[in-house]
Amino acid sequence: MWNEEYDIVIIGSGFAGLAAALEACKTCSSVVVLDKMRTPGGNSAISGGLVAAAGSPLQEKEGIKDSPALMLEDMLRAGLDFNTPALAKIVAERSTETLLWTIEELGVEYKPNLNHLGGHSVPRTYNTTNTSGSGIIKPMLAKCRDKGIPIRLKMLLQRFIADEKGVIQGVEVRKGYLFPNEASGETWRIRARKAVIVATGGFSQDIKFRLTQNPILTQEIESTNQPGATAEGLVAALKAGATPTQLSLIQLGPWASRDEEGFGVGSMFSMLAGFPYGILIDLKTGRRFVNELSDRKLLVDAMLNTGRESLAIVDSVGVKYASTLNKCLKRGVVKQYEAIDELAHANRIPLAALLETIRTYNENVSKGVDEDFGKPIPDDLFPIENPPYYSIRLISKVHHCMGGIQINSRAQVLNIETHLPIRRFYAAGEITGGIHGASRLGSNAITDCLVFGRIAGRNAAKERTRT
Ligand SMILES: Cc1cc2nc3c(=O)[nH]c(=O)nc-3n(C[C@H](O)[C@H](O)[C@H](O)COP(=O)(O)OP(=O)(O)OC[C@H]3O[C@@H](n4cnc5c(N)ncnc54)[C@H](O)[C@@H]3O)c2cc1C
Repeated sequence: MWNEEYDIVIIGSGFAGLAAALEACKTCSSVVVLDKMRTPGGNSAISGGLVAAAGSPLQEKEGIKDSPALMLEDMLRAGLDFNTPALAKIVAERSTETLLWTIEELGVEYKPNLNHLGGHSVPRTYNTTNTSGSGIIKPMLAKCRDKGIPIRLKMLLQRFIADEKGVIQGVEVRKGYLFPNEASGETWRIRARKAVIVATGGFSQDIKFRLTQNPILTQEIESTNQPGATAEGLVAALKAGATPTQLSLIQLGPWASRDEEGFGVGSMFSMLAGFPYGILIDLKTGRRFVNELSDRKLLVDAMLNTGRESLAIVDSVGVKYASTLNKCLKRGVVKQYEAIDELAHANRIPLAALLETIRTYNENVSKGVDEDFGKPIPDDLFPIENPPYYSIRLISKVHHCMGGIQINSRAQVLNIETHLPIRRFYAAGEITGGIHGASRLGSNAITDCLVFGRIAGRNAAKERTRT
């Protein structure tokens, strides 16, 4: 019946799957990672490489007071208490230890400054030196190579194979699969002597599936995700008895550009400079309408309200944090203007209203209190007054699935009927649900995937080996 066997079979080669593999291989020599695509890394490899950690060395250096308890509080507030607190707490508590693991064990390099992303009470976000998740994925893949962990591509998970008691035995895949051709490849069965870990990510690109959960997310709404971010891994887990949780909680990203496809280079411009150091305005009125450092849900809700067309504006001081600026200018995603009236004219914004908006905002910044929308005003935030000025046209895009399958604190998949763990079955990363509740904070996904990937790998390796 079986074509091959390993102790641990992991599906998905993103942050969660690779973290599981690297942890499992510390005590178990027979680990394999399978992925359906022609290249490894999934969304993880194209992500922005922003990683949240509470109580980190950079925070200590910059004198920022933070704690896992405050990070958890932020997660629950943004998540509108839809979170599973016990799981969210683990992410917050292990955030710094996990960040240090990426530095000390993987050799990941981060920029020397912290970022303050929307919805976080304090700056707690590290960013890889290349402003990309590939800055973490590449060292993870290199470490897998060193440890002899095979990463086998073009292997599409089709179903989990269980015995008559529902204990997971292995997987059926299509070997030689050529995405997206479902008829490609041949059926292949791989046995897991210890356990199977599913880490197939979210389903933001699966228009049919996301419409079953949220009818508003039609195909006209673009996604930031890689094309393979589809739901069949999740569906296979549900067929094996996993419990679905909060599948309709799907996040849109408020910072993406109207003038390029997907996440592009503009999203990081808005996240690192436009929102924290600039203003967000409604094109029709020239007015601000929200605290630019709100969490993503509040921002998207405010932007979609009355079909607003939004633009972020930052000056030459704030723009120095935008590490993707040159690429943005080259691609025409961000435009540069010598004066505000030029910017207003080019974007058809009422000039008098825009000048008044900037004047009021600058007054608030100088006073140290944003009386209009409550945006935090740190010491390194200055009035918008130094040309040239930069603007980016924004549109919301489908970005992250907060819902998924339910796990416990050991990363075991829970059965829909018994609410007990399905034996020899683990999950981690964006395929799991409940950790972030109604809205995931920026930079918390990488932390979540690495924390629970490692937990899944460690516990899977402890399973008794079947003969
Ligand atoms: C553009 C972008 C930028 C982001 N930036 C950040 C950021 O800076 N910080 C942050 O915290 N979060 C960020 N996120 C979110 C974060 O990157 C993701 O939540 C995270 O990478 C998910 O990791 P994962 O391991 O769960 O899944 P993925 O990285 O998506 O990996 C899943 C893998 O499983 C494979 N797979 C799927 N189905 C099957 C199947 N049936 N058979 C076999 N293989 C399968 C896929 O091909 C993929 O390689 C970003 C997301 C995107 C899209």
